[in-house]
Amino acid sequence: MSDSPKNFIKILRELMEEKNIKQGLWAATAPAKPKLISIQGDQRTDVAIIGGGYTGLSAALHLAKMGKESVVLEAEDIGYGGAGRNVGLVNAGLWLMPEDLIKLAGPEYGDRLIKVLGDSPDLVFELIEEYGIECEALRNGTLHCADSKKGYKVLQQREEQWLKRGAPVRLLGRDEAVSKTGSNSFYGALLDKRAGTIQPLAYAYGLANAALKAGAKLYNHSPVIGFKKIRNGWELNTPTGKLTAKSVIIAVHAYPGYAFKSYKKSMVSMSFFQFATPPLSRDVLETILPERQGAWDTNLILSSYRLDAAGRLIVGSVGTVEGFAYGLHESWVKRTIAKTFPQIEDTQLEYGWHGRFAMNTNHIPRFHVLEKNMAMITSYNGRGIGPGTVFGKLLAEYITGGSPEDIPLPISKIESIWSRNFWGIFYEVGARLYHSIQRRI
Ligand SMILES: Cc1cc2nc3c(=O)[nH]c(=O)nc-3n(C[C@H](O)[C@H](O)[C@H](O)COP(=O)(O)OP(=O)(O)OC[C@H]3O[C@@H](n4cnc5c(N)ncnc54)[C@H](O)[C@@H]3O)c2cc1C
Repeated sequence: MSDSPKNFIKILRELMEEKNIKQGLWAATAPAKPKLISIQGDQRTDVAIIGGGYTGLSAALHLAKMGKESVVLEAEDIGYGGAGRNVGLVNAGLWLMPEDLIKLAGPEYGDRLIKVLGDSPDLVFELIEEYGIECEALRNGTLHCADSKKGYKVLQQREEQWLKRGAPVRLLGRDEAVSKTGSNSFYGALLDKRAGTIQPLAYAYGLANAALKAGAKLYNHSPVIGFKKIRNGWELNTPTGKLTAKSVIIAVHAYPGYAFKSYKKSMVSMSFFQFATPPLSRDVLETILPERQGAWDTNLILSSYRLDAAGRLIVGSVGTVEGFAYGLHESWVKRTIAKTFPQIEDTQLEYGWHGRFAMNTNHIPRFHVLEKNMAMITSYNGRGIGPGTVFGKLLAEYITGGSPEDIPLPISKIESIWSRNFWGIFYEVGARLYHSIQRRI
């Protein structure tokens, strides 16, 4: 073993990546990982599920509830993808406003999609309760905060459109927004009582444990590196074993690796980082998001704000924390906290991490049936806790003989987004520039 400076830097980098860049705070505060091994030898099952995030784990749990056999193959660890890195806002609906969604999805799917995703927090919080999942779950609503007068007008439209559909949303004026957020930075906020917050990695672990208990088999460090059609189903190959299955659910989302790398062409990959402070003092905590709602703002380069159970403030925005971007975004978070929550003196940041989510051209998820017995739903456009949980359940039902009509999305082909690299770079460079100059001027 050599202890050259190069090696030392490599070790430091690896330690930093392990602690920060991946799941950051969530890895530090989640309960113990489910104890899994990689798949060995030749195995058989009814349904193979590729990917151990919310979609794959919810599919496995619901298959087990239906008395069906399933095996989850996860390339890394449970929650390695978006499920272990996200903000933890259990939102209702998509980013799109209901009327825009109906225009884009058409009347056949639009209303059903709004209903299914609008109600998706119900399924998340029901599963948390049913299986006693310890994941800091709070269903106190979320706050979509207007950071400009224009943003406030957009929230007025959102409120109007959701109220027409009977959703429990309420637009707060400036004074109420100030008291609910503990910040003078916002012109108002839309409170959505359907939503809430979770510790996202802990929720993924909880789903995994529930699926295991219900009879599903889960393997980690088992990347699917190749697959082929056989007479009665599919053969999936991993470096340590082979799985034969009658049908397959692909749940690799924004982290398609190995045999599914080519799916990257069908998404605009967008990154989002977060930084967390140490636990705040009790006095300060009483003044920041005192009811513990998770919040985000109306800016195009949006920012998110939430607390965890220990009272850490977590601030996020668009971009990565790779290389020098770590320092750039860390310094932006410090300036943002000083401006938004000046009651916090001398901000320290303990964790910084990032993840990717899959966007597409019209911000509506995609349902692909690659063959009769191989399906996937993907592109949640930054909202995957409720959608992943619900679509995992719907995929479990579909793949075991259900009708595609029960999924509120048209079946579509996997298509390349030719401008994906441009948009990926545009968001990353744009976010870095924006964060470099914002609040310096
Ligand atoms: C930083 C960030 C913030 C976000 N904030 C929110 C939020 O507040 N609220 C919200 O609702 N959503 C949020 N999202 C989106 C949400 O996290 C995702 O939509 C969700 O995790 C998707 O779940 P999934 O199970 O489909 O995919 P993932 O959780 O990404 O899981 C996919 C899994 O597939 C595995 N995989 C890939 N290739 C293979 C292979 N060949 N073999 C085996 N396994 C493979 C990967 O290792 C990965 O674990 C955010 C995302 C990010 C990154």
